[in-house]
Amino acid sequence: MIDTNTNNNASFLSKVSDYLIDNYSENLSELCIVFPNRRAGLFLKNLLADKLRKTFWSPKVFSIEDFMCEIANKKITENIRLLIELYAVHKNIEKENAKSFDEFIRWGQMLLNDFNEVDLYLVNANDLFGYLSESKAISLWNTDGKPLTAYQIKYLHLYKSLASYYKEFTNQLASKNIAYQGMVYRFVAENIENIDLTKKWHKIIFVGFNALTTSEEKIIKKLIQLEKAEILWDADKYYAENNMQEAGTLIRKNIKSIGTKDFNWLSDDFKNSIKEINIIGAVNGISQAKVAGNIIKEKFSTLVSDAKLSLKTALVLVDENLLLPVLYSLPPEVVQLNITMGFPLKNAPVYTFFDNIFAMHENAKRFNKPEFSDKQSFYFKDLIKLFAHPNILSLFNANEEHIVETIIARNKVFWQQEEILALIPENKSDIKENFKKLLSNWNVQPNISFECMANFIAMLQKSIISEKKQVETEEIDFKVDIELSYLFAFSKLINNLQCSLSSIADVVELKTLHSLFSQTVSLTKLPFYGEPLKGLQLMGLLETRTLDFDNLIILSVNEGLLPSGKTSNSLIPVDIKRQFNLATYNDHDSIYAYHFYRLLQRAKNVYLLYNTETDDFGKGERSRFINQIIDELPKYNSNIKISESIVSSLPEKQLIDYTISIKKNEFVYNMLKKMANNGMSPSAINAYRNCKLKFYFLYLLKLKETESVQEKIDAITLGNIIHEALHVLYKPYINRIIEKAHLEVMLKEAESIIKQAFLNAKFSIDEINFGKNHLIFKVAIKLISNFIHQEIKYIDDLKKDNNILTLMVLEKDMYKQINILVNKEENIIIKLKGKADRIDSIANTLRIIDYKTGYFDKKEVLIKDWEDLINKPFMDKSFQLLFYAYLAKDDYNNSIQSGIISFRNIKEGFHYLITPENTKNINNIDFNYFENVLQQILTEMFDKNIPFNPTEEIERCTYCPFAMICNRA
Ligand code: SF4
Repeated sequence: MIDTNTNNNASFLSKVSDYLIDNYSENLSELCIVFPNRRAGLFLKNLLADKLRKTFWSPKVFSIEDFMCEIANKKITENIRLLIELYAVHKNIEKENAKSFDEFIRWGQMLLNDFNEVDLYLVNANDLFGYLSESKAISLWNTDGKPLTAYQIKYLHLYKSLASYYKEFTNQLASKNIAYQGMVYRFVAENIENIDLTKKWHKIIFVGFNALTTSEEKIIKKLIQLEKAEILWDADKYYAENNMQEAGTLIRKNIKSIGTKDFNWLSDDFKNSIKEINIIGAVNGISQAKVAGNIIKEKFSTLVSDAKLSLKTALVLVDENLLLPVLYSLPPEVVQLNITMGFPLKNAPVYTFFDNIFAMHENAKRFNKPEFSDKQSFYFKDLIKLFAHPNILSLFNANEEHIVETIIARNKVFWQQEEILALIPENKSDIKENFKKLLSNWNVQPNISFECMANFIAMLQKSIISEKKQVETEEIDFKVDIELSYLFAFSKLINNLQCSLSSIADVVELKTLHSLFSQTVSLTKLPFYGEPLKGLQLMGLLETRTLDFDNLIILSVNEGLLPSGKTSNSLIPVDIKRQFNLATYNDHDSIYAYHFYRLLQRAKNVYLLYNTETDDFGKGERSRFINQIIDELPKYNSNIKISESIVSSLPEKQLIDYTISIKKNEFVYNMLKKMANNGMSPSAINAYRNCKLKFYFLYLLKLKETESVQEKIDAITLGNIIHEALHVLYKPYINRIIEKAHLEVMLKEAESIIKQAFLNAKFSIDEINFGKNHLIFKVAIKLISNFIHQEIKYIDDLKKDNNILTLMVLEKDMYKQINILVNKEENIIIKLKGKADRIDSIANTLRIIDYKTGYFDKKEVLIKDWEDLINKPFMDKSFQLLFYAYLAKDDYNNSIQSGIISFRNIKEGFHYLITPENTKNINNIDFNYFENVLQQILTEMFDKNIPFNPTEEIERCTYCPFAMICNRA
């Protein structure tokens, strides 16, 4: 590790403070300093005070957004108010064809973003939207003369109306004297020559900018020409002078367009510094958080135990979702911490709590049809989610009877309000009172929902504060402070929603309120701005702008995050954006590259942590920035040392705050027995192997996996479509030898069969032909065609060895019974069931195939030790393949192989399951071992003394849909 007292390059802000003292010491207080964000101002003021060592009037400091509002004398309006104003425009333009508010907000937000961009980049809205609608009309033009479909007509109409929307919307806002960000920036840019700034400030100094929108560029350029402003840049020759470096793209553009006489400052830190860069891969976000905590403990414990010294160290979270795992992983040596970032409000547990309550009321309305009254009843699964939620559990004492267990034990499907209230202990009258409202009929009075949420938040705040008072501790309790901060943010958000909604009559449906609440929460970040001049700095990437640190730990250095890549939340296609000089993903990539390299520029000890797991579409590889620095920096400067490592397991187990433990009482045990009768699938046993509680939630309570991650939904769609299409393609050849000619027929039929699979999955033709689904459609065609080509090659190879492939069965349901002795006295028969995707016969050997479209690693089908099958999650696929072989073995006399065809690595062909004896043929001894494993798992599953407990391996909770219920989110 490099000593932070050596190799001292002055930080950028230190240079800025010296510059101000040297050039403006007489009139510092008359300066206006403008930064890209609010954070840097406090650091600058502190540096000035340190250097001047006397009382002084500090300059006025603004973020660029505050500066624009100040000189325009305007305020930027809350997003929800803007949406409501835009909705009024929508109704006015569309008249009787107007959508409900609920449907509108899905694309209204996108429109707001586009209008904002149009103004920030000073684009002529009429030209842009006119061009856009013409281009859409041409792209939809059917050369074969077919008329446009209803969907295409609607689509075109929307594009044709965009210019009217823009005009009416901006006029409406101006008449009410409210504005969005772009409107304010455009106003300043168009009036900059007439705004008299000389009376306000002697000089305006813009500090640390890189990406400038057209409006910012115009304003800064004009002020510099008028000698009212200066600009101070921060760049390094390494990226600024090399046209191949994307980090310098915007700096080079700015130099050209703004053309300041002196370029302050272009440093040569990458050339002249000594650096150690450690690149560390970890399996997921939680592991990264643990690794970061360990680095701080092992390398920087002396620094972080001193509030002032720890300022030299920053933990940078590219993915803000890792804030809580990181906080829980910090070692006790960290005496002071300053968090500067926006924490996504949707990550707050109280959000899922309210989301569940909305869903519970919506279900109550559905189930109570046709007449729903004040006596509506609630579904027991919704109540379990409600009472198992950490926010509710925190209101009850730990030793009180667990309400969830009571609900399960009573075996009652629908519960009325009084019955639920009776479960709450008498000494909790305040909680009872709040629940009365929470369980009142929100469907009849949707607006009551906000009042109930506000009351509930007030109750939680009171309970946390009184608990905080009781627990006198010297340790900093980040958890409590964060909880209070987000509760405060929620009460503000609810209040805003209530005020804004009072102006629209259309919001009468509870589901509309629910959707609006969810949308608003998903767009809101809780800004944490702690005491910045002390403590370890925990920051988002954007908050690091203009700051420098000797020691840096950056998490989530993965593609899709750093840089963010091709995410689009816009109606304007990229090629048109380019034509009108709007920012595209290429510009965003350059911005991220600049932030990354600028941060590395003066750092001495750097740790770059990345996630080693890619998602099902191959996204999320380690960032190309990592590959670039490995390749380039040591050649550029031999004093830059780079090391690489992978952390395969977590440093330690996480302590569990509280646990839900489900005892196997009679009711639960009967559910288990029922399942034994109906059949136990490998997925169910795998769920149990991974987490007993997850098995209980999924397979006994049958709580649905409410998967909201879009990538996951896309992956599931792709997987299902491929499975169905392969089934249809191969079906005519069951019990036949597969010939090359058959496969060539399949190649011709593939596209239409895939299209039919989409239609069967309830996608319309329009949905298949446009947007994201079209992409999935194209991917499916490509994957299936690659697969069939690989099959042709395989058949050819077999032929050369005088072998043939017979397709035996497709999607075969297989069953078997197993007898086990449970609880030392009871013999029970458990039905095992499974469905193999395909079974072939080659040279008298059975080949059981499972198709996988998701991520797959060869190690997952390599069994090293039979014991691993008991509870190691990476053995899920091996377990499943052996399970199928075990079910199939009695029906066929052949020897058996089982394996995977991965659509990700189609060229690698069939991935055989390899037994601990290192063979691909599964023999009777292997089946005996496997039966033993099954016996062990099932005996434990039915053991009445072993409750369904949460897993102790917290990393297994990362993608679990029940993480919030278990307090593991
Ligand atoms: S969150 Fe974790 S403990 Fe809870 S069910 Fe899921 S895997 Fe089990």
